[in-house]
Amino acid sequence: MTPTLIAGAVLLALLSSAGAQTAPKPAEPATVRANADFGATLPWADKQSFEDARRGFIAGIPGNVIAGTGPAPAWNMAAYDFLSGDAPPTVNPSLWRQAQLNAISGLFKVTDGMYQLRGLDLANMTIVEGKTGLIVIDPLLTAETSRAGLELYYQHRPKRPVVAVIYSHGHADHFGGVKGVTSDEEVAAGKVRIYAPDGFMETAIAENIIAGNAMSRRAAYQFGALLPPGSMGHVDTGLGKALSRGALTLIPPTDVITAKAPEQVIDGVPIEFILAPGSEAPAEMMMYFPQQRVLDTAEVTTQHMHNVYTIRGAEVRDANKWSGYISDVRERYAAKADTLIMSHHWPVYGTAGVDHFLVVQRDLYKFMHDQTVRLLNEGWTPGDIAETLKLPASLEKEWTAHGYYGTLSHNTRAIYQKYLGWYDANPAHLNPLPQSEEAKKQIEYMGGIDAVLAKARADYAKGEYRWVASVMSQAVFADPTNQAARQLAADALEQLGYQAEAGTWRGAYLSGAQELRRGVPKLPPPSTLNADTLKAVNLELFFDFLGVRLNAAKAEGKRLVLNWNFTDTKQQFTMNLENSALTWVEGRLAAKPDAGLTLTRDALNQFLLGRAKLPELMQQGLVKPEGDVRKFGELFAMFDNFTPDFPIVEPLKK
Ligand SMILES: [Zn+2]
Repeated sequence: MTPTLIAGAVLLALLSSAGAQTAPKPAEPATVRANADFGATLPWADKQSFEDARRGFIAGIPGNVIAGTGPAPAWNMAAYDFLSGDAPPTVNPSLWRQAQLNAISGLFKVTDGMYQLRGLDLANMTIVEGKTGLIVIDPLLTAETSRAGLELYYQHRPKRPVVAVIYSHGHADHFGGVKGVTSDEEVAAGKVRIYAPDGFMETAIAENIIAGNAMSRRAAYQFGALLPPGSMGHVDTGLGKALSRGALTLIPPTDVITAKAPEQVIDGVPIEFILAPGSEAPAEMMMYFPQQRVLDTAEVTTQHMHNVYTIRGAEVRDANKWSGYISDVRERYAAKADTLIMSHHWPVYGTAGVDHFLVVQRDLYKFMHDQTVRLLNEGWTPGDIAETLKLPASLEKEWTAHGYYGTLSHNTRAIYQKYLGWYDANPAHLNPLPQSEEAKKQIEYMGGIDAVLAKARADYAKGEYRWVASVMSQAVFADPTNQAARQLAADALEQLGYQAEAGTWRGAYLSGAQELRRGVPKLPPPSTLNADTLKAVNLELFFDFLGVRLNAAKAEGKRLVLNWNFTDTKQQFTMNLENSALTWVEGRLAAKPDAGLTLTRDALNQFLLGRAKLPELMQQGLVKPEGDVRKFGELFAMFDNFTPDFPIVEPLKK
């Protein structure tokens, strides 16, 4: 998700690192011990995943690199060649194993007539051979990688045209590469049909708009996108190797799959669609292929514990409902499936294996949901639940229950949040001092920064990294210019990163450490919006987004009524600015507005993409003003422009 921001940022981060005394440090003895102890708890005898991940391998991409449009490659699996042998002390051995599995890449035969491209992007692309051509399921994140995947397929299979694309769900890693396998023209000409679950367009991009800037910034932490690959840097996201860097594209679906007509024949291939809205994504569907006896569970299941809450920031997902979908699909299809494929990770082979896998995934989400809710009903707080709840031994011994992306810790906090929100009901936490003020008081009460640093160094030497990270964060928030505090805070986060089993936690810890040492990187604004993705932004969402950009101080005391009249979509909006709040009503125009615009959606899009300025569009007659059109300029001057370079591990400069 929100991956397009990351391309330029990586270059900037790498450039700024040259020569500075900011290099990562080795694993401390306590980390070496912790990783060895953790490794001793893992079910190493179960090597099935490596067999499954390699099964059906045909060929890889030459050099394991996919070129991009600029100097940086779109995809570089060769940068992960270091992932061989046993885990170094700077990587949790469980994550190291997952990172090795996610590095097994190329074209794989799943069964007759069904192939997968894996390890060419964060997600998988599946190709089903139909009667006249190819059905592509989930065309990756960027056009560069999906194109390279299709070319790899063509080198080993007959070159038949793509006749259908299926988006399993509305996350960009499953549709963004669509223009690498087909084009607007082919779809418009009816040569290619595009299938998506009910609600796809409404939700595909919406999640990345309203809070998109903050999510982009935080996503770089979660994915470790600014960390160089290496045993002291980025090793894996857990869900897949990394995000590709290229063109995010979107072609709207021609066919929407609803629960009313779940059985379809696409290019001669019967497919039973199983809708799972509100599982891992708001609009998502699984698929069963009766001829091939293959069940595709999309991203509803994965070879790990997924996120009930994704730490890049997003709404909490419903773990109970999620488990229910897995339970249902197991009841209906497990006995009929020889193979289970997914939108990420490697397949599960054999009916018994499929059934067992689905049981583990079903119970994983149900367990964490029910036990969290049990404990919260008994008065436990989020931190206590996160610390105490452990998986039952029968799940713990399953690799597929391990938290490489979600963790039991942050997922239980999310389940608490879903039902009870951020507040733990202790009134001392209802209105505490702001973070920096609280931190200054804390450090003062503890005897001043020098005393705190001395104690924290002693605890660091003992390996108490969680505490040192916490108290040094207080020290940095009390005084972000204190270099000793920043260094020790970074060191503690780094050791936590080296110990983390989850790729997401490692990414967050090491990104935090990097920023404490180097400062906040200058990041370009997120480029989630482009000519393609803008199609998925309806006018309601557009006006809502304008509302969240309104700077209340600049709007103080201002009153505006503006009409928007869209001639092509036949939509009319009255926008009202009053009390520093921007509201709108659809379906009518104000009789006496301060100003109004009559325009097409396309003209608005050109303006939003920065391809044309408002006066130019007016000159061309594409936008017709009414009243005092300067009022629009007045309004637009009140909008903030978001940039993803705000501080995270140190105080915001207000
Ligand atoms: Zn995905």
